[in-house]
Amino acid sequence: MPQDSKTRFDQELETRLMRYAAIDSQSDANSPTSPSTERQYDMLRLLEAELKDIGAEDVVITDYGTVLATLPGTAPGPTVGFLAHVDTAPQFNATGVKPRVIKGYNGGDITYPDNADLILSPVEFPYLAQKQGHDIITASGTTLLGGDDKAGVAIIMTAAKHLLENPEIKHPPLRLAFTPDEEIGRGVNAALPKDLAADFAYTFDGGEVGEIVYETFSADGAEILVKGVSIHPGHAKDKLVNAIHLASKIIQTLPQSVMVPETTDGHEGFIHATDMVGGSSEMKIKLILRDFEREGLAEKGEIVRKVCEAVAATEPRAEITCQITPQYRNMRYWLEKDMTPVDLARDACRKLGIEPMSVPIRGGTDGSRLTEMGVPTPNLFTGMQNIHGPLEWISVQDMALATELCLELVGLAVES
Ligand SMILES: [Zn+2]
Repeated sequence: MPQDSKTRFDQELETRLMRYAAIDSQSDANSPTSPSTERQYDMLRLLEAELKDIGAEDVVITDYGTVLATLPGTAPGPTVGFLAHVDTAPQFNATGVKPRVIKGYNGGDITYPDNADLILSPVEFPYLAQKQGHDIITASGTTLLGGDDKAGVAIIMTAAKHLLENPEIKHPPLRLAFTPDEEIGRGVNAALPKDLAADFAYTFDGGEVGEIVYETFSADGAEILVKGVSIHPGHAKDKLVNAIHLASKIIQTLPQSVMVPETTDGHEGFIHATDMVGGSSEMKIKLILRDFEREGLAEKGEIVRKVCEAVAATEPRAEITCQITPQYRNMRYWLEKDMTPVDLARDACRKLGIEPMSVPIRGGTDGSRLTEMGVPTPNLFTGMQNIHGPLEWISVQDMALATELCLELVGLAVES
């Protein structure tokens, strides 16, 4: 299928994404609740109603805020899951998203109605240059679009409706899940693998057409607590120990020109300081550690621990603790033992005339956690670009290819 031709799902995908993107469903890492924000229910309840409307079965919202549904099989085969997340990234304004569509993109600079200074340039973003003639959806200049991952939601809903309307299409039992809080790393509840009850699954949460990802970072979080000695500064001689100075020393001693996100790429991992808060009596530093390999990740944890120990040794009156918590693991560890889900997706991709590409992603997905918990879950392309910021955009025709991929895939999953 040539990429510039209009497809059978364009209109529905465009309408769905515009409708979903206008709903504010941003997650919030600082909230202790699950889901982290009440506003995610605006998406969850809408999807619950829409799934019932198109005739899906077993439609529920779980107490951890995930919408689940079944499309009964029309043929035998493994139960295949499809997931997308309803939350949008907390990193940028997501309130008052005004999506708009640029029909038949002319290949030039894209400007924004609500921000005269903002320009989306095909020179700066070469993938956009390939999309001449496509229908491009963007926000209006002051918010992100939220195609991450409402594009995934739109793709799964469009494919599901098509399958339910055409029961002659052969597919195995399918399970759908729309999860909250992916962007803050809390999308996969402990009960989800059992509740999803799929043999394997896919997230639609990837970028460029052809992307089939089964390799992600392995990730740990580190929290360093520095306790000084607090005394009135007027009577502090030989007594006060300033936690701010010690925390600064830790940051100064950690690698800064190597092993940081701003100087690494490809298969290299990093240590990244994300937060430093507190005062002279107590400081808290948060770091994220990332690597594709377990050994590399453990080594980064060791560096953080050693730096803490070294700084602690300079001031025995202070108390410095370092807690390292596992976050997620590279899904390749599990998938390389059984590549069936990846091979199915690759074959489906080739059937559409697209050469699949499997680039390791420098991040994690809900699939990283799910895979580790026993449901192998590679990540598939949606077309989303420049996510988490005002220049986010997506081609409707790319989304249509992802929808076709989903349909090819369920066909190939049927037991022959
Ligand atoms: Zn996403």
